[in-house]
Amino acid sequence: MSAPRLEVDLTKVAHNTSTLVSRLRGRGIGVTGVTKAALGSPELGRALVGAGVGMLGDSRVENLERLRAADLPARLALIRSPMAHQLDRIVRCADVSFNSELEIVAGLSAVAGARGTTHAVVLMVELGDLREGILPPDLADAVRATLRLPNLVLEGLGTNLACRSGVVPDATKMADLSRLASSIEADFGVDLGLVSGGNSANLGWALGEEPVGRVNDLRLGESLLLGLDPLHRRPVGGLHTDAIVLVAEVIESKIKPSLPWGRLAQAAFGAPGEATDTGLVAQAILAVGEQDVDPLGLQPPPGVRILGASSDHLVVTAPERLPIGAELRFTPNYSALLRAMTSPFVEKHLLTSTPAPLSGLPG
Ligand SMILES: *Cc1c(COP(=O)(O)O)cnc(C)c1O
Repeated sequence: MSAPRLEVDLTKVAHNTSTLVSRLRGRGIGVTGVTKAALGSPELGRALVGAGVGMLGDSRVENLERLRAADLPARLALIRSPMAHQLDRIVRCADVSFNSELEIVAGLSAVAGARGTTHAVVLMVELGDLREGILPPDLADAVRATLRLPNLVLEGLGTNLACRSGVVPDATKMADLSRLASSIEADFGVDLGLVSGGNSANLGWALGEEPVGRVNDLRLGESLLLGLDPLHRRPVGGLHTDAIVLVAEVIESKIKPSLPWGRLAQAAFGAPGEATDTGLVAQAILAVGEQDVDPLGLQPPPGVRILGASSDHLVVTAPERLPIGAELRFTPNYSALLRAMTSPFVEKHLLTSTPAPLSGLPG
């Protein structure tokens, strides 16, 4: 088989998804399955829809177009604020888009009108993470302007925390969003069908005890794929954390000194890590590097330690000499996963396995 490759076990991803869908349903919250880390893979989309997500979300038009072509029984959402030059494509491939700029919303209205269709918008609210969103004092004006536009449906409000600044989506923030939703409904006499509280970082709050208020949707990506809560990168109970592995092949394997020799300056990717003298070590090179993956985001198999990486080489040490041509399996974090999915040098294998017992779970 070709290497490097990503193996995505869709059965495990579906298990993660149906587990979260059913736990959140008990709290009155639906799941929008976010596919961007898998480039809008239709196979992934089909697995998520089969596992109970009500909507698929992606940040890229290209990915939504792939999903649209697959004709899955789910609504499609653009979850990044649209680019002005893509409005026509967006109205064609997305049922709903998440917005924070009124001139874009007006543009979507015009494009939808020209196409003889309607487009739904969710207005994003800034609650402190300082990424996208309308500031709360400006929200009523934005709603008023949106409601005046033809060929648009104001579907709801959303917010996004924990991505740029690490602001925690806690009960206080979610109560702020609920209060805004209720006051918009009261002031404008509208029904907001969707109140989208955030991403996987919201799970600690959503699966806790606090009342969820008006929040009835979360947009989940990382937790479905990697089984992790991104706030602390801890496993979410009951989810597989090994649904995705990166497989790489050994191209050199020698016993070498643990310390470099010669005068030292910068390496290809900045200052090299401090090496300690452990005498001679079994060092292996895997044919994968910065161009394929974020090497710092790889968790090696037991006994193997990552010593360094450059564009095309990942240097590891193992208890004994690894055979040439051997394959090692690494668990990627979100950053490593994104880069590997995006690299043309990494093959993507989306597999459906027979249901496996849970592994990689705490306790
Ligand atoms: C990527 C993204 C998500 C999903 O985040 P995860 O941490 O992967 O669950 C949700 N909302 C927006 C706006 C995003 O860009």
